[in-house]
Amino acid sequence: MQNILAKPQENSQLKRKSHKQWRKEVKKLRRKKIRQKEAQTKPMILEDIPLPDSDDSIEPEDSEQRLLGEELWLRRELIAQKVFREQKRKKEEIEAVKKAEKDKIQREFELREQRYQDKINEKKRLEEEAQREWDIVQEQLTNFLENKGRVPEKLLVPLESNPGKEECSFFLKTNCCRHDLKCLRNHKRPQISKVLLLKNFYSHISLERAETGIEFTYHDVLNDYYQFFEDISEELEKFGEIINIRTCGNTGIHMRGNVFVEFESMRNAMNAYINLNGRFYAGKQINAEFSTITSWKAAVCGLALHKKCHKGGSCNFLHLFPNPRNKYSQPCKGDGRTDSIRSHKGCEFLLLIIVFYLNLF
Ligand SMILES: [Zn+2]
Ligand SMILES: [Zn+2]
Repeated sequence: MQNILAKPQENSQLKRKSHKQWRKEVKKLRRKKIRQKEAQTKPMILEDIPLPDSDDSIEPEDSEQRLLGEELWLRRELIAQKVFREQKRKKEEIEAVKKAEKDKIQREFELREQRYQDKINEKKRLEEEAQREWDIVQEQLTNFLENKGRVPEKLLVPLESNPGKEECSFFLKTNCCRHDLKCLRNHKRPQISKVLLLKNFYSHISLERAETGIEFTYHDVLNDYYQFFEDISEELEKFGEIINIRTCGNTGIHMRGNVFVEFESMRNAMNAYINLNGRFYAGKQINAEFSTITSWKAAVCGLALHKKCHKGGSCNFLHLFPNPRNKYSQPCKGDGRTDSIRSHKGCEFLLLIIVFYLNLF
């Protein structure tokens, strides 16, 4: 009986202990909730809070001590999460800045590439357009040379060295300028005309006498020139009727030995231009271009014609060699019928003799 009675007593004691335990746990949980709430709202400085001894071998006798440990752990966790979020935010900001910078560089690179590609495309387009125009001009030129068409309009536009600048009067009158391409004024050069200029075509030591110091007689000079004239006349006549062949006796390098050949038509002049350019004569490559000269009266030195040019060979207007038998020494159409050059042929011849002899002594 005692055993039977003792059992319920023992059960009730267990039941009481269980209730007490239950209440203790409830209180513990309530305190825990309060502490968690406080931890979320109150800032915490971890460094100031000592950590409890975490030695597992020591059983926490005091539940307060254990709860304090848990609370500290929670606060540490919250702060660590906050620090982690802050670091993550900063990292994301840095990444965003880097990405923006990278995108900017990429956009600029793509823009540069696009501009470069546009330039290449534009250059290619212009080249193709120029080629098409050139092909058309070539075809028109072939027809023109075969007497099947007119002068290509593109060739009627002169080439200009300094567009918009004042025209160089020396170049306009004589087709020769001592400054050549460095001239600050505008040189208008035709792409086609009746007059061809063969630059520095006639070379004779007399024209370089000032540099070489070699003396010569005017008779020799004239004989050499006559021989040259006969040679080139025969060759030039193959291209068509010739009106004029005028050769400069000037010593300036920009005029020395320049030979002007005026043909009866632009067709003949163009034919000669195409065939002569690049060929060699007396060991020198021929450099032909079209001339602006329309009036010999304006191009030739008037003082020389009147025996008064004191500049001699260094004059910037044309001092011409006399042609044998006055051959190919016609006035330009613009000079009129009573051309002063023709009427002064005798004077010109005498003047040249005087000038050369003056140079000799
Ligand atoms: Zn000039
Ligand atoms: Zn002169």
